[in-house]
Amino acid sequence: EIVDCDWSSDVCSSDLVARLMEALQAAGFAAYVVGGAVRDTLAGRTPVDWDLATNATPDQLRRAFPDAQYENRFGTVGIPTAAGVREVTTFRSDGPSSDARRPDTVTFLAEIEGDLARRDFTVNAMAFGVPADSHGDALLSASLVDPFGGASDLDAKLLRAVGDPAERFREDALRMLRAVRFSTRFGLAIEPATAAVIRRDAALAATLSGERIGAEIEGILAADDPAPGLRALYDLGLVAQIAPELHAAWADEAPSRVAAIGSIGSVDAPDPLGRLTELVAVIADDTIAENVLAAWRRPRATLHAVAALRSLDRSAAAAERGSIDAASYRIAAGRASGDPHDAARQLRRRIAAGRATPAAATLLALCERADADGLPALVGDLAVDGSTILDALKERPGAWMSPLLDELLDQVAHALVPNRPDELIAAAKRIRASQGETSGRQ
Ligand code: ATP
Ligand code: MG
Repeated sequence: EIVDCDWSSDVCSSDLVARLMEALQAAGFAAYVVGGAVRDTLAGRTPVDWDLATNATPDQLRRAFPDAQYENRFGTVGIPTAAGVREVTTFRSDGPSSDARRPDTVTFLAEIEGDLARRDFTVNAMAFGVPADSHGDALLSASLVDPFGGASDLDAKLLRAVGDPAERFREDALRMLRAVRFSTRFGLAIEPATAAVIRRDAALAATLSGERIGAEIEGILAADDPAPGLRALYDLGLVAQIAPELHAAWADEAPSRVAAIGSIGSVDAPDPLGRLTELVAVIADDTIAENVLAAWRRPRATLHAVAALRSLDRSAAAAERGSIDAASYRIAAGRASGDPHDAARQLRRRIAAGRATPAAATLLALCERADADGLPALVGDLAVDGSTILDALKERPGAWMSPLLDELLDQVAHALVPNRPDELIAAAKRIRASQGETSGRQ
């Protein structure tokens, strides 16, 4: 049982990673925490996931842990624990890759150093643990293995490729986007030689799958402050490769506008959709903007949501111009996204991004007030539904119902009619009568 150690308290107290390391050690194998968990722990952050590496082959792991499962064709093994499946990967070097994304083959290795050499950046190429055939407490005798100077780069806030950057980016061009993601997420500067190669070889990124690009973009947008990352993406020539249309429309203020949306501490944080929408806001044409996101293989629901936010943004601009009032704008918001609160939210986004006119503040106050008062902005929020109205009016269903409900909502949203069944029925009768006058009853 683990008593105390100077590793992370997560490991010592509750985490099964420590037990797994002990179990591997007891079986005579090497046991190391690798990659992100080491980086995050050294930087004082709590790791999200713990990856373990060992010299035990997948077959040896399966013999040592009878309920272990193969996770993928490269022999990563999942060991079920009380806290979910923990992945343990055999030390390996990657063979050549025919598609510049996954190695065709991997070779298992006996030592941790070779495994660290295949990793992308020095800060991601550290391990903490024990070698094979070690004795004593697994955690107390564990040590840091850092052949590429990851710890000092982390101190100096530098993101540096492991080995020759040109070679590493040729092996996997995704590393160029990962460089930008890690640097913006952790506030690291991309080391000059690494950055120079990205700039020179940015064209390699054009061959990446849209799916992988999209995931990295979302990772960059999820940073507390994505602005430096977006600027780097553009300055290094990567935007031109992964979205030529976005590159063509780019504006200097785009990164800071995106970063202002859902920034930490704001009521709307986090706001990944708002940020994604703001990123493509520089593209005026809806179809071209959608094509960029579709090329990045964003889910259909995301494409719809972005399209709704773009249309909502136009309504907000119209409301700021005074073309529609606050109540009508809330209804437009409800129609665009299904959530009338988006009316206020979109104004806050426009104000944060510096795109709003002075009228936005007054409009925002009106929308927030209406939200707080629970003023309906969706037909579904009315205190009567279509069938109640049919009963009250003693009529048969028809095409007249939908415009009647819209008109009813409009009157309620403008506080001309209270949202109570009796008043709504009375108003419905008046509206129905005036409908008859203009269009004739059938
Ligand atoms: P995150 O917190 O984003 O998960 P992470 O460092 O765990 O950060 P992963 O993408 O989960 O990042 O990868 C785990 C480790 O595997 C990395 O730390 C790195 O050592 C290595 N790695 C992952 N992808 C690559 C790649 N494309 N090229 C080289 N090494 C990689
Ligand atoms: Mg990870």
